[in-house]
Amino acid sequence: MMKKHLLIHGQWVEAKNYTSLKSPYTGEEIAQIPAATNEEVELAIQAAYEARNVIAKMPAHQRASILEKVARLLEERADEAARLVALEAAKPFSTAKAEIARTIQTYKFAAEAAKNIHGEVLPLDAAPGGENRIAYTVREPLGVVGAITPFNFPFNLVAHKLGPAVAAGNAIVLKPASQTPLSSFFIAELFQEAGLPSGVLNIVTGSGRTVGEKIVTDHRINMVTFTGSPGVGIGIRNKAGLKRVTLELGSNSAVIIDQGVNIEKIIPRCVTSAFAFQGQVCISLQRVYVHESAYEAFVEKFVEATKKLKVGDPLDPTTDVSAMISPGDVKRTLDWIEEARQHGAVVATGGEAEGNVLLPTVLLQADHSLKVSCQEVFAPIVVINKVKTVDEAIEFVNDSRYGLQAGIYTDNIHTALHAAERLHVGGVMINDTPTFRVDHMPYGGVKESGTGREGLKYAVEEMTEMKLVIFNRN
Ligand code: NAP
Repeated sequence: MMKKHLLIHGQWVEAKNYTSLKSPYTGEEIAQIPAATNEEVELAIQAAYEARNVIAKMPAHQRASILEKVARLLEERADEAARLVALEAAKPFSTAKAEIARTIQTYKFAAEAAKNIHGEVLPLDAAPGGENRIAYTVREPLGVVGAITPFNFPFNLVAHKLGPAVAAGNAIVLKPASQTPLSSFFIAELFQEAGLPSGVLNIVTGSGRTVGEKIVTDHRINMVTFTGSPGVGIGIRNKAGLKRVTLELGSNSAVIIDQGVNIEKIIPRCVTSAFAFQGQVCISLQRVYVHESAYEAFVEKFVEATKKLKVGDPLDPTTDVSAMISPGDVKRTLDWIEEARQHGAVVATGGEAEGNVLLPTVLLQADHSLKVSCQEVFAPIVVINKVKTVDEAIEFVNDSRYGLQAGIYTDNIHTALHAAERLHVGGVMINDTPTFRVDHMPYGGVKESGTGREGLKYAVEEMTEMKLVIFNRN
């Protein structure tokens, strides 16, 4: 049995209280995890506050080389890291390996970003009175970044906080999701091995309410970077005062299938986008709007491919779909499916659970107002509806509280450009699902999907402050 400790000022500190971490798939205990008290969070924040000048003064090439080393160490231990994700999150092992591969890229991009932080020279004489002055901007670290992360990408979404924060020269207090703390402890060990100075990274586990709220409200924290559900994100924004806040929140992402598209070719991509990691992905494919001429063929092939998915143990490398993150989420989603059924939706496959595994579920013609359509399902459920025109589909996609990414498959360039302009989201994928992401692209949403952008270069901008310097030569 593993027993983990808090990371404060470079030391693994025994906590006052511990909770038991259980496997979502077997329900068995896998580790004892600290439940930090207010005083313990206080110590972690103070450690980061004291270390902020150490990391701010470290030359960019040294920050970059620490990040490069973390990427290298993770590469060497990739299988071990993937097993940890499979164990604590029930992410199927092959999907977990893909997450680790992306995480390595994220740290490599962070290392590059560290070496490319710069300002610009401004022509002040463009304004009367600005003659004979030299003006330039620099980007300075903010100080201490408070990072709060979700359970669904315990390595890569943590990397999207730690990578840019270190690249930009900030100290960090990290609070990982209660269900997936082991991945954060693992990466912290790699940062220590890579030579990150003590106190620059501090990890406090425990409930969102105690630990999260202290991070959000403490005056020594200059920025809160949060990835998680819209409800929690909005609460954070309301409490954070003048701190900088970036919010990467949820969605009910959709794809549009235009007439004339090669259905056979796009089915595997659509199925993976809907069911990878049990649909517990912020840009998981939840809604599909298919042109009426292609609807029957799309549904038939999609359902056929869905039925072939292998359900089971996350540690089995051949498993496609495993347990949901909690029994509560299984119950919630079964209730939502039942609501859809009662309002006339057809369950084409799935619709029931085996233990904590919700079988991959395809719903047809579910009304737009139903929870499975208008809320974020965050489960292996996809709704496929028929539309008469692409414009009608665009209206459905936009009629949402969320706006993270959207996709459209079309062979018509005019339709593609029209959709790119009309879809109200953070990113439009032409001839792909909304689920596409590589880690250096700007990523983030509109409406209740959040504010701010991640993707290393963009996150570094969020995690630095612009300062203006003017030399008067008169
Ligand atoms: P969550 O319940 O919102 O939790 C996220 C983090 O917030 C956890 O560390 C949680 O701690 C903490 N937290 C809970 N209450 C808090 C409070 N009052 N103050 C401060 N922190 C608090 O989300 P989740 O279930 O882990 O993740 C799923 C959600 O994340 C989905 O909505 C998904 O779409 C979204 N997501 C978005 C992106 C993106 O980039 N846009 C990426 C991935 C996931 P505990 O674990 O201790 O409760």
